[in-house]
Amino acid sequence: MTRKYNFCAGPAALPEAVLKTAQAEILDWQGRGLSVMEMSHRSDEFVAIAKKAEQDFRDLLGVPDNYKVLFMQGGASSQFAMVPLNLLGQGGQANYVNTGVWSKKAIAEAKRYGNVNIAASTEDRNFFIAPSQSELQLSEDAAYLHYTSNETIGGLQFDYVPQVGDVPLVCDMSSDILSAPIDISQFGLIYAGAQKNIGPAGLTIVIVREDLLGRELAQNPTMFSYKVAADNDSMYNTPPTYALYLSGLVFDWLKNEVGGIDKMAEINQRKAAKLYTAIDNSAFYGNPIAIPNRSIMNVPFTLADAKLESVFLKEAEAAGLLNLAGHRSVGGMRASLYNAVPEAAVDALIAFMADFEQRQG
Ligand code: PMP
Repeated sequence: MTRKYNFCAGPAALPEAVLKTAQAEILDWQGRGLSVMEMSHRSDEFVAIAKKAEQDFRDLLGVPDNYKVLFMQGGASSQFAMVPLNLLGQGGQANYVNTGVWSKKAIAEAKRYGNVNIAASTEDRNFFIAPSQSELQLSEDAAYLHYTSNETIGGLQFDYVPQVGDVPLVCDMSSDILSAPIDISQFGLIYAGAQKNIGPAGLTIVIVREDLLGRELAQNPTMFSYKVAADNDSMYNTPPTYALYLSGLVFDWLKNEVGGIDKMAEINQRKAAKLYTAIDNSAFYGNPIAIPNRSIMNVPFTLADAKLESVFLKEAEAAGLLNLAGHRSVGGMRASLYNAVPEAAVDALIAFMADFEQRQG
């Protein structure tokens, strides 16, 4: 068996050590004679797995005591609806920042439930840059401001946390959560689908400040209620138990093998810097994003001759470098450098790119 280097944007690479632990435990979890997949979610064993996962996650990000961590389902896309349903109130209005494909989807969904004020958009600049703090036009009676800290498709990342006074700040952190330290106390709510830096698809994490619970619309579906999830320790119904277990293994790996978020951020910075330098030093490869907003997680790049894209992808795959095609909506290439993508993978990619350029450029 050879594991190849996987640059997929999501579901993404998982740490090999995590997969090995899962493999060793798949038939018999810690001598109990059954798999985690076969356990009742209400059993002492599984409740302990979920509690440890939550505690490790809280420790990693320094989640303050007045925030709930909710393990939900439905992906980040369901959060596009859950956020307005829970926070907007009847006929309410919210501020949204538009920085690309994912913020647009969040905006479209929110419009179904209330009034959306676009606080800033860089669409007129082809989303090559994030709006600056001074560009944000905040409507005063907004229930919250929503932004996407990292646009996974565009490869555009905020280099600051928007300051919005007393208005709750809501962030879609699907593709950069756990990549670097954050000050949770600046946020009202953070959500993220698991399948990038957290674990396998099927789990969605929400971090919510307690005073924001219970503001939901009366017709809010029970399964969409943050308060119901919080009051029931994320077990109102059956949670995605195996995804939660695997995510717990990832948190343990991040804490104990990597050495925490600061260490992870340092490695991530180094990986991204190497790749951007390789792109910038070549006339053959290009990346259009403003330097301060270049994503450390998702690096889109183009070839000087777009006709070579399919050859590039085919040869990369043969060289053991998987999933480098850009999103189907934009084309080009994209290398996702999430936490579980080792530095050696980035080195191998850079060497391949140099060799390809020499042969084809
Ligand atoms: N937001 C962002 C920033 C994303 O990258 C994605 C998935 N790529 C989504 C939302 C949608 O996530 P899901 O597929 O979990 O609904």
